[in-house]
Parts: sequence; structure tokens; C-alpha cells
Amino acid sequence: MPDVLVIGSGGAGLAAAIAACDAGASVVIATKLGVASCNTAKAQGGIQAAVGSDDDVATHFADVMRSSHDTADAVLARRLVEEGPATIAWLASLGVTFTRESDGSLRRARCGGATRQRLLQVGDRTGLAIASALREAVALRDGIVVLDHAPLVALASDGAALIERNGEQVLIEAGAIVLAAGGRCKRAAEETGELSTNGDGATGEVAALAVAAGCAERDHDSLQRHPTGAAWPAGLAGYAVPETTRAYGALLRNAAGEQFVDELAPRDVVAEAITRECAEGRGLTTPAGRPAVHLDCRPVAAADAEISFPYMLKRYRKAGIDPLTEPILVYPVLHYQNGGLIIDEDGRTSVPGIWAAGEITGGVHGRNRMMGNSLLDVCVFGRRAGAAAAATR
Ligand SMILES: Cc1cc2nc3c(=O)[nH]c(=O)nc-3n(C[C@H](O)[C@H](O)[C@H](O)COP(=O)(O)OP(=O)(O)OC[C@H]3O[C@@H](n4cnc5c(N)ncnc54)[C@H](O)[C@@H]3O)c2cc1C
Repeated sequence: MPDVLVIGSGGAGLAAAIAACDAGASVVIATKLGVASCNTAKAQGGIQAAVGSDDDVATHFADVMRSSHDTADAVLARRLVEEGPATIAWLASLGVTFTRESDGSLRRARCGGATRQRLLQVGDRTGLAIASALREAVALRDGIVVLDHAPLVALASDGAALIERNGEQVLIEAGAIVLAAGGRCKRAAEETGELSTNGDGATGEVAALAVAAGCAERDHDSLQRHPTGAAWPAGLAGYAVPETTRAYGALLRNAAGEQFVDELAPRDVVAEAITRECAEGRGLTTPAGRPAVHLDCRPVAAADAEISFPYMLKRYRKAGIDPLTEPILVYPVLHYQNGGLIIDEDGRTSVPGIWAAGEITGGVHGRNRMMGNSLLDVCVFGRRAGAAAAATR
């Protein structure tokens, strides 16, 4: 039996596995779909960390608390921001090449709710770069075995786990288990008929199994909508138009062409303003009959767009729309599970032997996550949970 069983192969699971292995533990990762399938790899805009000379962790912390409307767990939020700069250095050491300006400095953008330019980017495929680097680091470690297409289907209160693989159920009684199975916004969207940015794995059954096994949770009802989900064309519906569009000057406009919200307000404020604009008859309607407003990227300098959201431009241009010459139709879409399993600073849940990290947990961001803090969360708390779980050997 492994010392540590990790559930999920997104950023949190991979970071936990690496940390546990580096602490001397034998590790098995069991993941539901292919090993590369996760929301982490879909993340585009970037990762926050207070690395600028005009920034510091106290300011980052204050931004997290204010954006969460003081609902974040202050202990977790402080740990998140304090480990930001070291996490960026760790990712760079694993081969993540952050985008730099021509003078060699790290390219930084100000995202919604932030008071500083703090969002570091790898073009607009930041999550893919991080997930790929973490996967490579896992592959380099002999002490980590990866079981793909191996979902967790049952969990006992002592951490014993039932994994389904090749039509059989396998009982794994590891010394410790780290739950890193992400959120549930794919399933939630199917239930409500909304669009979602999430991948197929985001169905939430692991959190439900953990709660049934006795793990306490918080803010279960709190789901975040990404303010600018693509509403049209149909082939892009649900695609998360990166928040960096607004960071570099894109404006939100109603049917009359008027701005109606501070584009860099916290996410919930922007999403609610768009929903209200449409509900009160000032929005637009897509050819498919869905409500929408315009995201006008024309104010963005072409050079900024090509550096910070080339993938988004490519996707729209392939669909026959150039966002730099015409406004695009957007509307909030289900994106992130704010709430989840309650953890301490080391990812310990309320049940001994069961750890958790990443989107499956609640508290780090309270009831309103800032953009860019989830990629940081999965690295910081994934590593902490993995190391702490390994220490129980
Ligand atoms: C389109 C998009 C863009 C985003 N952009 C950003 C961004 O720019 N910056 C930012 O900070 N955040 C962003 N986010 C949010 C962020 O990417 C995620 O919240 C974060 O990466 C979640 O990481 P995770 O490891 O907790 O979960 P995931 O990366 O989702 O990984 C969960 C893993 O668990 C597996 N799993 C699920 N159920 C089971 C089961 N029963 N048994 C075994 N395995 C299971 C899944 O298959 C998957 O491998 C974005 C999210 C999306 C969807």
C-alpha cells in the first residue's frame, strides 16, 4: 500500500504528489479520466503573486479579503499570499516560463479586485504551462505511480478508498489520502441549464463522499460565475474569455453602447452587473436567443492582445470574429466552486488521515475568489497537504 494516495491529477493533486514524494513517501495518484484532464490545464489568464517592487504580501492579502467581502479564512488567505513569491520561483525551477517584458521583467497585469499589477502570465495558457510542468515533475519521480481512468467511488471515515479500474474495484488503504478532485461546476451547469467553463471531470462526487465520511465543509452553496463567458458564436459558448482582456483595457457595454460597471471590480460585482443589465432590458440577445452584453476589446493595444491573449484571439478568429475589430457577446457562466471542505494551513480536514487541497476546499477565497488566486492556491496548499500527509508515515 502507498504511504499517500492522491485523488485527482490537476494542479493540487500533482503538487501534493510531488511534495509527498520529495518528503520520502511512496505515492499513488488515482485520477478519474486521462492524467492530463483537469481544470488546471484550462486556466488561461494567470497566477497572482506579490513579486512587483510596488507590491507586497500585505497588499495581496488585503485584496483577497476585500474581494471576498471578508468571507475568506484569514489564516488560509495569509498563507496563500505569503507563499506566492516562493511558489513562482518553484514553478520557474520546474520549467514554467513566465511571459516577460522587453526589459526582462515579469509581465504583470492588474486583475479584478486587485490594487496592483500582480497577475503573472504564460501568454493565455498559464494553466497548461503549469500543469505540463507539474506532470513532467511527477513523471521524473520513481516514487509516484499514476493510475488513470481510476475514479474514487467510495471513501471510509478512516481514509480507506475504493478505486474503480478496468471494471474492477480496488481497495487502497494508504497511510494518508489527499483529496484534490477539483470542483463541481460542470455538473452544476448541467443541472441548471447554464453554460460552464469547466471540463468533464468537474462533477463534485469526491467532495460529497468526503462529507459523507465526516469531513466538514463550508459555503457549499457558493458557486462563482466567470463574468465574461462567451455567449456567441455557438461553437465557443461557455468559453472563458480571459479577464486579461479587461486588464488591458477591454470595456463592457450594454445595447446602447454604454459602460455600466468598473471592468476591474471583483468578479461577483462584474457578473451581477451584467446579469442585471440584461434582466432590466438593457442587454443584447445572441442569435441563439441567450442574453449577452458586449465586451469591446478594441481599446486594447494590439501588442498587448497578441502577448497576453493570443489563444483567445485565435479561437475567435477561427470562428470568423476578430475581437480587436468588433465587440464580442459575453454573459456570466458557471466557473468555480468557492465553497468546499474545511482545511487547516496544512490541508488537514476535520477527519484524521484525510487531507484536501485545491478547488475541492473552501475558505481560502471565501465566497468570492479573485482571478489568478486559484492557480496559486493549488500549488501552495497542494504542496503543503502533500508534505503534511507524507509526515504521517
Ligand atoms: C477555463 C478556466 C480558466 C481558468 N483560469 C484561471 C486563471 O487564469 N487563473 C486561476 O488562478 N484560476 C483559473 N481557473 C481556475 C483554476 O484553473 C482551477 O480552480 C484550479 O486549477 C483547480 O485545480 P484542482 O487541482 O483543484 O482541480 P482540477 O485541476 O480540476 O483537477 C481535479 C482532478 O480531479 C479528478 N477527479 C475528479 N473526480 C474524481 C474522482 N471521482 N476520482 C478521481 N479523480 C477525480 C479530475 O479528473 C482532475 O484530474 C480557471 C478555470 C477554468 C475552468
